[in-house]
Amino acid sequence: MKLSFEKSVAGRRGNFVPPLAVPAVPLDELLPAALQRATPAALPELAEPEVVRHFVALSRRNFGVDVGFYPLGSCTMKFNPKINERVAALPGFLDVHPLAPAETVQGVLQLLHETERLLSTICGMAAFSLVPAAGAHGELAGMMVIQAHHRAQGAGRRKVLVPDGAHGTNPASAALCGFEVVEVASNPAGGVDLDDLRRKVDTATAALMLTNPNTLGLFEDRILEVASIVHEAGALLYYDGANLNGILGRARPGDMGFDVVHVNVHKTFSTPHGGGGPGAGPVGVAAHLVDHLPLPRIVRDGDVFRLEGTAPRSIGKLLAFHGNIGVLVRAWCYLRAHGPEQLRAISGDAVLNANYLRELLRGAFEVPYERRVMHEFALSGRRQKAAGSSTLDIAKRLIDFGFHPPTIYWPLVVEECMLIEPVETETKETLDAFAAAMLQIAEEIRVNPEFVHAAPHTAPVKRLDEVRAARQLDLRWRATGG
Ligand SMILES: *Cc1c(COP(=O)(O)O)cnc(C)c1O
Repeated sequence: MKLSFEKSVAGRRGNFVPPLAVPAVPLDELLPAALQRATPAALPELAEPEVVRHFVALSRRNFGVDVGFYPLGSCTMKFNPKINERVAALPGFLDVHPLAPAETVQGVLQLLHETERLLSTICGMAAFSLVPAAGAHGELAGMMVIQAHHRAQGAGRRKVLVPDGAHGTNPASAALCGFEVVEVASNPAGGVDLDDLRRKVDTATAALMLTNPNTLGLFEDRILEVASIVHEAGALLYYDGANLNGILGRARPGDMGFDVVHVNVHKTFSTPHGGGGPGAGPVGVAAHLVDHLPLPRIVRDGDVFRLEGTAPRSIGKLLAFHGNIGVLVRAWCYLRAHGPEQLRAISGDAVLNANYLRELLRGAFEVPYERRVMHEFALSGRRQKAAGSSTLDIAKRLIDFGFHPPTIYWPLVVEECMLIEPVETETKETLDAFAAAMLQIAEEIRVNPEFVHAAPHTAPVKRLDEVRAARQLDLRWRATGG
């Protein structure tokens, strides 16, 4: 039987599914007797309302940005505007097939091309590729570009420098690409130790991977000096732009001297994180690296867009198809709905919120660096640890107040670290309520650390053995009483 694509689409539009011309044969007659079960499977009998109640009850135990404040430092759990979901669900985006001929998906290609241009403008890069499927994937793509560049120069550079406060994906991506990772120390102000950098950079260095503002929310104000040290050695500068919330619309990695950038649309550009599901980590490069970008490239010829599948100097394909278009549509919506002025306001509000919250909390918790911060800030729970409750206890107690805990025990350079990112979409009332909860917890630790150590008190489950849960995954379905 042949089903024409046009016919099935027309059928759906009219809410009418044409009957299939298949003769009715009992299924048992189609299956060889030897392959048929002797007894029917013991499947549970459940009433539909019970099934619905079960899953609704589970969903209510789930925590997300639509349920409460989620100040996960570096990971940016910002509000996902609902209009983006509606646009991404339009049939012209949702129903296209990756093998559809380019002339039938001109709108999608135009949107992707425009997103590439917008990201290039925002980051000060010559070109972007939207192919990578996550931040870490963008890093891998970027490191492959850097490797291709050095190989094209005839230089087999094997080392990549990574600061000690870097996100764990940085050394992992460099190592996956075959580089040897060398750690660079931070200085007491939380920036790169330039002397250590000078000692470690040499003619075997392929790149320095840097996050700026770094993972403590601190801007590397000697970035131009860092760039010249790296470039003088013939190495490239890689920008981990997973989180651009501190500088959006105000400063560009390209102007700071970076050669390669990746951004996480699920951090800065409000697309859902999706439980590890489809993501996007677009990678951008300066003019001298454009030829190495992954394939396919979206090419504009006048008013027509097409996909270029081959290029001699490209690092090639990273995915079966063109990237996770659904999330990129959401990111495009966010970019276009805001426009230049509003995008600039995002970083202003994000930085204001972070500094406001930091001021409210700095009396009760240690602040490791006496500097104004960008979009996020670190606190140390060292004082509370000495009084009998750790940072983990504080995180668990926050659950009782209806808040998701911040990022904890990372970056590693801060003892008993809590990394808090309030994001621009939160109200002053929410920030005040969170600060009040944190201050109450600090007071509880002062008078009764055992109480905080036993938290959470209101959650359906108490302390989990997280290490065991991760190592011994239990993914079996089990019938009650079975
Ligand atoms: C989240 C993050 C990454 C990794 O992004 P994924 O999409 O989770 O792979 C890399 N660097 C920094 C600074 C991040 O915050």
